[in-house]
Amino acid sequence: MLHYPGLRAVLLAVLTSLLLSGCAVVELLDAVALNPTKHREATGVRPSTLKLHRTLLVADLHADTLMLDRGGMKGIQQRHRYGHADVPRWREGNVGLQVLTVATVTPVPYSEPLNGGWILPNAQWVLAPLQGWPPRTWWNSRQHALHQAYKWRVNADGQALTAIRTREDLAAFLSANYRNTRAGWIPKSPSTQPVATVLGLEGSHALRLHYLDSDTQIATRVKEFRDAGFRMLALTHRFDNELAGASEGSRRCGVTPLGHRLLREMERQQMICDLAHASSRTISEVLETYPDLPVMVSHGGIAFDACKGDEAASRLLSVDQARAIAKRGGIIGIGLWPEVLGEAEPELAAQMIKRCLADPCIGPQHVALGSDMDGSVLAAFAANNWCMLTEELRDLPEGTLRDVMGGNVIRFFQKHLP
Ligand SMILES: [Zn+2]
Repeated sequence: MLHYPGLRAVLLAVLTSLLLSGCAVVELLDAVALNPTKHREATGVRPSTLKLHRTLLVADLHADTLMLDRGGMKGIQQRHRYGHADVPRWREGNVGLQVLTVATVTPVPYSEPLNGGWILPNAQWVLAPLQGWPPRTWWNSRQHALHQAYKWRVNADGQALTAIRTREDLAAFLSANYRNTRAGWIPKSPSTQPVATVLGLEGSHALRLHYLDSDTQIATRVKEFRDAGFRMLALTHRFDNELAGASEGSRRCGVTPLGHRLLREMERQQMICDLAHASSRTISEVLETYPDLPVMVSHGGIAFDACKGDEAASRLLSVDQARAIAKRGGIIGIGLWPEVLGEAEPELAAQMIKRCLADPCIGPQHVALGSDMDGSVLAAFAANNWCMLTEELRDLPEGTLRDVMGGNVIRFFQKHLP
């Protein structure tokens, strides 16, 4: 307790200015370094493509936008000139459903292989204090994830964003905002209607299960995340953890005994397993051991040309893995950033999508979009310019184009949400 009002005011002023300058530092980082965009304007899009695009329901399986405040708890609802995504840009890009994903531990610098036994420093340990998040979120990844889930709930009040937790939520959202025509779901008023949003976790180390003993405790912890809104859990992020090996991890092992206990609980609580960032062994073991668990890859790509050397540790699925995921009814979100495409070009994303469509064992029902916008990547375009991808896919039959751009994701959630 301070008894000197003058000193208290000075301390308050110092703390406030540190906080304000912290936010300014994050905004500067965000604008100049974290989330650049290759094509800032949608060039080469024909007026007829734009007209078709305005009738689409675009669904994107991965954006990390909750990690950044951009002006506060509801900053996501304002339009920003930097970063990749916010509600006005989703509306402009005809995004009807956006999965918002929560990352808690991000090792930097991004070296290959990433962790080599260490994961310091952590970008979130920097972003959380600089943005003035509660101190409990600075060091504890569970608290960090739950804080982002709280932000998601505060924003997803049905006006700008609509929280989707169940099939009923999705059905109500679609019937309120879309016309269900023979061609597909057509938005009633794309510039003003809300955007549906599903919550996903990028790296289940945030559940901190290694501090728990019994299966009852694990079930309670999974329920805590489920109650907070999470419906998709990825076992790993960019490093091996106590649950499973990651594709960029140092050991790239499979699922650990603790990971199996989590997966069994995910099946019981109807959670979806996101295999993005998982090692090859983890992917195979999940597919073999849990035939009834819904699986997807929220963001990544497919190595249609054989990988060599270090590329084996990349974010690309092998063709066989992609086929196995499709056979299981899973969907694969194709990314827009250079590590999966070679260059951040809409044309290259379209080429990868078309190769999936041409493969009889993957096919048109299992390909989706997984942009990784606001995930510290160079994106081909920001969320308002999805029409650039529509342009590259214009030669597809309209039904296939609609499925890839959103229909497959809607059907997946209609089937697998609780
Ligand atoms: Zn990721």
